[in-house]
Amino acid sequence: MSDPSCLFCRIARREIPAKIVHEDDGLVAFWDVNPQAPTHILIIPRDHIPSLNDLEPKHRDVIGDVHLLARELARAEGITSGGWRVVMNCGADAGQTVFHIHLHL
Ligand code: AMP
Ligand code: ZN
Repeated sequence: MSDPSCLFCRIARREIPAKIVHEDDGLVAFWDVNPQAPTHILIIPRDHIPSLNDLEPKHRDVIGDVHLLARELARAEGITSGGWRVVMNCGADAGQTVFHIHLHL
């Protein structure tokens, strides 16, 4: 499911330009436009899930998949031995500004 008004759905559909580093049937990864670290990539499912509050058991695989892709991209970026962090903000009070789940790498 895709939301025509959602920024990240539009990036996934390539309607809005982004520095995409990975895409497959289920996921898209692209550089954060305002990076907070030397490597700052966002990993999103193509499926429009607004936040972790909307997570259901059927999303189990996608939650695993975003982390497996984070590991793959960390390797590609050469940061596995130095260390890396993932963050997923949930809700406005936690700093979520784009309501399409995304894993910050
Ligand atoms: P959050 O605050 O957790 O919702 O994270 C949203 C992130 O999306 C922020 O780090 C923004 O810099 C980033 N962002 C917003 N618009 C774009 C865009 N058009 N392309 C890439 N990253 C974006
Ligand atoms: Zn969306």
